[in-house]
Amino acid sequence: MLTATPLNVVKMLRADRILPKWEGKVCPRYEKGTLSGLKLEAGTGMPKHRCSHWKCRVYINPQHLHPLFVDGRGAAAQPLQTQAALLMLKLNNISNPAVHRLLHVNHKMVEDLDKRLCHARKTWVEAKEKDIVFGKDQKWADVEADETTFDRMELGNKAPDPKNPVVWEQWCGIVQRGHPETLVLSRLSPRESAKRAPGPGAIRKVEWTPLAKKWLQDKKVILHTDSAKSYKTRVPGVLHDKVVHGKKRVKVKGQWKWKAPTYVKLAKHKNPITKKMITVKSGTQVVDRAWKFLKDRLTINQNAKDPFLS
Ligand SMILES: [Zn+2]
Repeated sequence: MLTATPLNVVKMLRADRILPKWEGKVCPRYEKGTLSGLKLEAGTGMPKHRCSHWKCRVYINPQHLHPLFVDGRGAAAQPLQTQAALLMLKLNNISNPAVHRLLHVNHKMVEDLDKRLCHARKTWVEAKEKDIVFGKDQKWADVEADETTFDRMELGNKAPDPKNPVVWEQWCGIVQRGHPETLVLSRLSPRESAKRAPGPGAIRKVEWTPLAKKWLQDKKVILHTDSAKSYKTRVPGVLHDKVVHGKKRVKVKGQWKWKAPTYVKLAKHKNPITKKMITVKSGTQVVDRAWKFLKDRLTINQNAKDPFLS
C-alpha cells in the first residue's frame, strides 16, 4: 500500500469500498459544475477531479470530504498511501506507539484518526440503531438486558456533593439472542457515589422504564435479566425472567445453607394469548459476552467524561 502509485491507492481503496467515487457528482465548491474522472494534475502529478464549470475549474482530491482521510495541502499533509496504511493498522488494533514506529507519522496524526474513527463509528451505530426491532422474526424471542460499568472518576473538590465524589460511566445493553446485530447500548446516568463504593449500583427504575418502553413494549419478547429490582417494571408485551447472581443463604430443613448462584436455568412462561407453555433458558450470558468483548477492546484510561467540565 505504501509503495502503490497515487492512482493505484485510490483504486485499491475504491475496490475495498472505503473511498467513494466523485466523478459525475456535483462539484461541492459552488454546486454548479460536475466533476470529471480522475486525471493526473499537471505539476503535482496527483490524481484529481476537475470541476466542469467555467467559473470554477477547481481540482478536487479523491478523498475530498472523506470522514477518515485528510484532504490537506502543504508540508503537514500526508499522502493517501500513508493515511490508508495508518487506517489499516488502526483497524487491526495495532497500538499507537507501534503505528508511530512503523509509519514514522507523528502522534497527533494517529490520535486525529482515532477521533475520526470514533466519530464515524458513532454515526454508523446511531444510524443502524434506528432499524433495530426486537422480536421481529419470531414470537416470544429471548431478549437479554444488563448493565455494566466501564469507568469511574473521582471529581475531588469539583464534586457538587463532597461526600459522593465518584462519577461512573455505566451503560445498559439489550440484545436479542441469536441476533448480535440487535445489541442496543444506552448510556446511563447513575448517581455519584462515595469514594469507596464498589460501583454505581444496579440500573435505576427511572432509567430502565423508558428504555423498556422504547425497545420492548408490545414486541412480544421474553426478557432475561439479573435480579435487579428495576427490571421488574411491568411492560405490556414483555414476559420477564430473572436469574440470581451471587450466593444466597436459604433454609433447608431448618438449617441455613449457601445456595450457589444460578447463572443459567430453565424457566417456563405461559404465552398470554395461546396459553401454551414456553420453556426458555434464563440468564444474561449473551449480553455478558458482549460486555467482555467491549471491555477487551477499550482503552482503559479513557475516563468517564467529566459532566461538569463538558
Ligand atoms: Zn466547481
